[in-house]
Amino acid sequence: MIPIAEAIGIVLQQTSELEIESVALSDSLGRILAQDIVADSDLPPFDRAQMDGYAVRAADVANTPARLRIVGESAAGSGWHHEMKAGEAVRIMTGAPVPTGADAVQQVELTREVDGPEFVEILEPVASGRSIVGRAGEIKAGETVLRAGEDINAVMIATLASFGYAQVKVGRRPRVAVMATGSELVNVDEKPGADQIRDSNNYTIAAYAALAGATVRRMPLAVDDTEELKRQIAQATAQSDVLVTSGGVSVGVYDFTKAALKELGAEIYFERVALRPGKPTVFARLGNTLVFGLPGNPVSVTVTFNLFARTALRVMQGAKQPELIEEAAVLARDLKGSIERESYLPAVLRTDEKGTLLAEPLKWGGSSDFVAFARATALINVPTGVKSISANSLVKIVRLPA
Ligand code: AMP
Ligand code: MG
Repeated sequence: MIPIAEAIGIVLQQTSELEIESVALSDSLGRILAQDIVADSDLPPFDRAQMDGYAVRAADVANTPARLRIVGESAAGSGWHHEMKAGEAVRIMTGAPVPTGADAVQQVELTREVDGPEFVEILEPVASGRSIVGRAGEIKAGETVLRAGEDINAVMIATLASFGYAQVKVGRRPRVAVMATGSELVNVDEKPGADQIRDSNNYTIAAYAALAGATVRRMPLAVDDTEELKRQIAQATAQSDVLVTSGGVSVGVYDFTKAALKELGAEIYFERVALRPGKPTVFARLGNTLVFGLPGNPVSVTVTFNLFARTALRVMQGAKQPELIEEAAVLARDLKGSIERESYLPAVLRTDEKGTLLAEPLKWGGSSDFVAFARATALINVPTGVKSISANSLVKIVRLPA
């Protein structure tokens, strides 16, 4: 049995980055950047008005009301490109260039047009620089604004678009094959007979693999038979970067997944992790394909997939943060740990009135209780050797991808 950190270290060491590909900006959401993003222009590209109102010289409106002659109009997309002189004002709109000679914008609410459209009265003084963002005040041309290895999320899209990245270089999506094993399994569209259950792991793994950026191929359900497992594993690994199996890795008489992998000549990197739930997790390589042999229990599947397989899938795409991010939360109820194993236990996160993040451990019936588990939004980490943690203690948590 090896510690979780060591197991993750082995996964990181054995996983290499896949090729880089170019995708259209509109297809880049959820991918991992494979290039630094550099500003190709100043932002804003000119001194920009932040308000609708009048471009003025602050000195002209030190004493108010101040009467100024309106000499032009600067609108977004169509500026007034002359020199504004003392005693003059230019009507200006949000997003429009501020004319040379002006050093402030007074908002329209603090002005009044007088004597027809030619004159404006500025009702309040305005400080020099007010409501103007100077050229390059946000970003200078040539600055790196996003870095390779970052996850492309929705708020980044505007940055990519603004600097002209119609195509974005990203890590190729890993091809994942999922294969549930177990003679008790039937497909989701079948009615389980006596002694049977519906397969859920293939769907869970496919869902988390998709969240991790992979494309997924589902293999037929495999029965507990070494020869059949070998056949299916060989097929699954042929065209995949990663194979994720579930079931058949514990010490039962019909747990044949490891035997099948070994007979096929796979190199086994680890097969027992000091993790609760998820002890019998297997990590191996067969040819060029990494294999994660996850335990069959649906909750173990979620925990072990997200600790190990997700990490590998993100490394393959070049993520600079491949692992789940650890955060701190306050434990809402007492919690039991384990002497020999580090735990990742399902929890619901919420925030109290003071803004404190609370982790509420789920009451669940063990690693097969996926109905209770369906409410989980995070996992609480309990270090090895900690028998119990009392309510109000600070604990480490990781959020489940959703
Ligand atoms: P195993 O790791 O094969 O011993 O399976 C452990 C438990 O998980 C057993 O109760 C199995 O019936 C259950 N299980 C295994 N595979 C699946 C699956 N694909 N979907 C739902 N439950 C499963
Ligand atoms: Mg089984």
